[in-house]
Amino acid sequence: MIPVMIPLLGEEEAQAAADAVRSGWVAQGPRVRSFEQDFAATVGATHGVATSSCTTALHLALVLLGIEPGDEVVVPSFSFIATANAVRYVGATPVFADVDLATGNVTVETVDAVRTPRTRAVIAVHQGGVPFDTAALRKAAAGWGVELVEDAACAAGSSAYGQPAGAGAKVAAWSFHPRKLLTTGEGGMLTLDDPERAARLRRLREHGMNVSAADRHASSQPVLEAYLETAYNYRMTDIQAAIGLVQLGRLAGLVAQRRELAARYHELLAGVGGLVPVRDPAYGQTNYQSFWVLLDGFPAARDEVLSELAAQGVSARRGIMAAHLEPAYADVSPAPLPVTERLTRDSLILPLHHKLTTDDQEHIVAVLRRLSR
Ligand SMILES: *Cc1c(COP(=O)(O)O)cnc(C)c1O
Repeated sequence: MIPVMIPLLGEEEAQAAADAVRSGWVAQGPRVRSFEQDFAATVGATHGVATSSCTTALHLALVLLGIEPGDEVVVPSFSFIATANAVRYVGATPVFADVDLATGNVTVETVDAVRTPRTRAVIAVHQGGVPFDTAALRKAAAGWGVELVEDAACAAGSSAYGQPAGAGAKVAAWSFHPRKLLTTGEGGMLTLDDPERAARLRRLREHGMNVSAADRHASSQPVLEAYLETAYNYRMTDIQAAIGLVQLGRLAGLVAQRRELAARYHELLAGVGGLVPVRDPAYGQTNYQSFWVLLDGFPAARDEVLSELAAQGVSARRGIMAAHLEPAYADVSPAPLPVTERLTRDSLILPLHHKLTTDDQEHIVAVLRRLSR
């Protein structure tokens, strides 16, 4: 089987994790601090606050912004379900906005269409690595007086307007799950430029303590901590951060390789009718975390295509989900989401990973070409 994704994990990651274990310090400590600094610098932010996942990072971002019951938060339904769930964690109401067909992302228009006086925030997603229009949405959000949280779970190594996706964000949330480009097993990060907000986020992820456990242990004098507010244990471990530091060094090469593989897919798929592969938007570049193709006049249905690919040894996946179609959101009746429903019904994700060969890609496209006739 050709897998849809393989994390790039080498001997260096194994060694770094072993070194963290041998150091005797395995909880959040100096390696987490280094990883925060290096990751933030890589994505063009001043501060990084590591978390246990992107899901917990999104939760903390909404706590930080004071989002509470009675507030509405506009989110794409067309996203991994964690984006919408985070809104419910703070007791607020997710309101689903439709997305653009080409990028899979919310736009100023789709957000504006569902905005109400109760809208306190928007979570915009760089879906599958494709950046949303950061300039347009940040400007619109500021004009509306609503907070903009950037779900950059998939976007390490993507860029918009010549800057890393997430650079200049009021707050961006990242994921290090193995389905993303850069992995720590599980893990997440918040990046931002405001030092006071960063300090609050550090407290929120560590029980509301005014001094971190790591700093307390590093001090030669006894330090008495205070618990300033009811908060969470959303910490990353130093074992994870040790792996993340190695992974960070691989990111640029990994993105370059994925973009080459995507370019090869584009060439091969140009000769197959009825398929529209994802591409860079005019204002930026995707890291191709997900290489999706939309069936547009293709003679076979999506699930038929997936079955035939599986029969030919190719593990493709259905396209990105739509949260509003899941039982967990059956009680929500959103405004019509025609583009979301079309994308989730008619798209599939093709294998893209560092071990994918030209032969693999030719085989995958040959299966699609046969089905297209
Ligand atoms: C993967 C993903 C998440 C969740 O990330 P975790 O680190 O697994 O919690 C959130 N949002 C989007 C858009 C994702 O793709």
